[in-house]
Amino acid sequence: MSSLPPVLAAPRLGLPPRHLADLPVDGRASAVAELGEQPFRARQLSQHYFGRLTTDTAAMTDIPLRARSRLAGELLPPLLTAVREVSCDEGNTVKTLWRGHDASLVESVVMRYPGRATVCVSSQAGCGMACPFCATGQGGLRRNLSTAEIVEQVRAAAAMVRDGRAGPPGRLSNVVFMGMGEPLANYRRVLDAVHRICDPVPAGLGLSQRNVTVSTVGLVPAMRTLAAEGLSVTLAVSLHAPDDELRDELVPVNTRWKVAEVLAAARRYAERTGRRVSVEYALIRDVNDQPWRASLLGRLLHAELGQLAHVNVIPLNPTPGSRWDAAPKPAEREFVRRVNDAGVSCTVRDTRGREIAAACGQLAATR
Ligand code: SAH
Repeated sequence: MSSLPPVLAAPRLGLPPRHLADLPVDGRASAVAELGEQPFRARQLSQHYFGRLTTDTAAMTDIPLRARSRLAGELLPPLLTAVREVSCDEGNTVKTLWRGHDASLVESVVMRYPGRATVCVSSQAGCGMACPFCATGQGGLRRNLSTAEIVEQVRAAAAMVRDGRAGPPGRLSNVVFMGMGEPLANYRRVLDAVHRICDPVPAGLGLSQRNVTVSTVGLVPAMRTLAAEGLSVTLAVSLHAPDDELRDELVPVNTRWKVAEVLAAARRYAERTGRRVSVEYALIRDVNDQPWRASLLGRLLHAELGQLAHVNVIPLNPTPGSRWDAAPKPAEREFVRRVNDAGVSCTVRDTRGREIAAACGQLAATR
């Protein structure tokens, strides 16, 4: 068991240069003006980047060559370089390993489903939350990602789906902040990224807020702040245990904000936004899979959230060298049944990408 304490503040080091996707629309216009170019060039650049999903300056023929190279040099610096791409599920799941300007490694995963195309993105290089069952958590936190580094993962995924490089050509519809990192520990940049992802083209990529899920270990003050933003993104809470004794161990930040506080903050989020909260529960054999814990979970959620909760059971994806394993299927079925019996909806999440180490908590850990 890990005894690493959670780290809430990221080192301020290492953020990449400014990028178009860091800036709101008015900021882009002034950045372009500061470079001595006509402000309307900001809209053209935005149209290329957010609308046509390209960073290739050769394609930006509506901007004169001289202006183009200056603008691209200053506002479209390369942030993430794909160093490896692996796929499985007959090409319907594709993981990309990215290297940042400072050699930080992060990953994103595109997953195609009938009627939906999802990208799972990273919000930090590494993670400071120290959850002992999560490979990323064991590596510690390297740094926050910039807004643009997060948006770049989404833009690249949208281009990949459109071009048929991850299953048949289609449209990226969903974004989940369930890659590396704790999104709410990089709050401002993640929130700005949500705007860039959801604002209509060319301000942003034009995805629906309802199709964006932000997942958290339960940083209660940030959950409260997020509830007040007036967004309609889905909140996922990684609970993993209904009782503080076990959760203190599985999600170390629980020593700071207890289960009851996390659920109260989740309820407030659900009430403010009208959105159902996803409760994530990685089911671990003989650790958190007992029938009594299922009943306790169901009771607590029913009391606090009622119809506003949905439990996602995730079969534990064992990390290399871990002594933990997924719960046996009969225990999993009983767990789901008991949560359902308490009046709370509960399903088992499908486990994409395990054979390419693209499943939960393993992103970038295999390198
Ligand atoms: N830090 C955020 C988001 C990233 S992890 C959070 O914790 O919510 C996305 C989900 O994968 C979390 O619910 C996390 O607990 C879960 N997870 C991490 N490692 C896992 C593993 N080895 N098996 C199953 N789920 C895991």
